[in-house]
Amino acid sequence: MERILLKGGRILDPSMEMDATGDLLIEDGLISAVGQGIKADGAVEVDVSGLWVCPGLVDLHVHLREPGEEYKETIESGTRAAAAGGFTSVACMPNTRPPNDNAGITRFIVERAREAGHCRVFPVACITKGQGGEELTEFADLLNAGAVAFSDDGLPVRDAGVMRMAMEYAAGLNTLLITHSEEPALSSGGCMNEGRMSTLLGLKGIPAAAEVIAIYRDVALAELTGCRLHVAHVSTAGGVEVVRRAKERGVAVTAETAPHYFSLTEEAVAGYNTSAKMNPPLRTEEDRLAVIQGLQDGTIDVIATDHAPHSVLEKDCAFEVAANGIVGLETALPLTLELCRNRDIEPLRAVELLSTAPARILGIQGGSLSPGSAADVVVIDPGEEFTLSSDKLFSKGKNSPFLGVRLQGRAVLTILSGRPAHDPLGMLDKD
Ligand SMILES: [Zn+2]
Repeated sequence: MERILLKGGRILDPSMEMDATGDLLIEDGLISAVGQGIKADGAVEVDVSGLWVCPGLVDLHVHLREPGEEYKETIESGTRAAAAGGFTSVACMPNTRPPNDNAGITRFIVERAREAGHCRVFPVACITKGQGGEELTEFADLLNAGAVAFSDDGLPVRDAGVMRMAMEYAAGLNTLLITHSEEPALSSGGCMNEGRMSTLLGLKGIPAAAEVIAIYRDVALAELTGCRLHVAHVSTAGGVEVVRRAKERGVAVTAETAPHYFSLTEEAVAGYNTSAKMNPPLRTEEDRLAVIQGLQDGTIDVIATDHAPHSVLEKDCAFEVAANGIVGLETALPLTLELCRNRDIEPLRAVELLSTAPARILGIQGGSLSPGSAADVVVIDPGEEFTLSSDKLFSKGKNSPFLGVRLQGRAVLTILSGRPAHDPLGMLDKD
């Protein structure tokens, strides 16, 4: 299948500021033309009228669990879930077993993804050895092996001196640090947001301040060192405000949130629902609205899933001991489109948040339909309704608070380098 012509779709490409009906031609794995009335003899023609044609989605924050926890997810199953969710690139966090703190593991991930992957995989390597928070990893080696950024995600870097040194190295190498913003002295022992619900349920809470203080510290260190800082999973109104002020001062900071922080609140924990347990925890309605405001005004640059698959073993247990995190690759798109339906953001902004901005921040290809780009494309049916059920998820992890929930909007065709990576309707099954 060398030539594919997608005809009559709504083409949404923030990199070209394009939101118009038109055609897209793919030749030899590259986008060769975009516009009106494109003709291509011998191409496989697909009528995509009524559908959106966008650059493949890019997820800056996933946990693929391989190596070490293949019973939760593998690079194969995780990237299959990604393709089903419309993603053509994912960045995977280093808290595997062992953690991705050396070039051997980074290379293993890159090679596994090449063999088994259904999308591009970009490893994020540890900031500190073993995520121990003390000794820095070999940044230059890890970059050479294929790492695209550094993070101890899952854990904060406790020691501000270690973080400062990490930022100095990162600045020198012009690479990105991704911070998991949590002040452990405040969060220790907590398992949900601190507030009305935690009191009601008798669970120890994590105050919003645990996030706000940590973001503030790392913004101050980024200002000191000139390091490019990306703040992962912002969940609080205070956190959004710290990032907003930092950007106003010209600090090189970007930020992400995850769909659950604009779709749910701490109320979802009612009944000790472990599928609503994550870190940072779900917050209040005021926080949820502040996160949406951050998406609107550009304070928050990226929607990332923080896809965190677990087996039933880690979730079918008491709330306090249940693992943190939910799967997100197959729900991010409909949950983001909900913001469009509510007129919180425009469709073009949604594509920017899910594709163009994360590709730019990571410094990877993708996020664009401009001719000459790799043909990483997603065709979206924004109106398709479905009820999320665990047996339909491609991820091994079934831990989602959205199971049984009616969702709207879905990837109906994901194309990676000009080849179908997810084609449930058989749109490209033509000879
Ligand atoms: Zn994290």
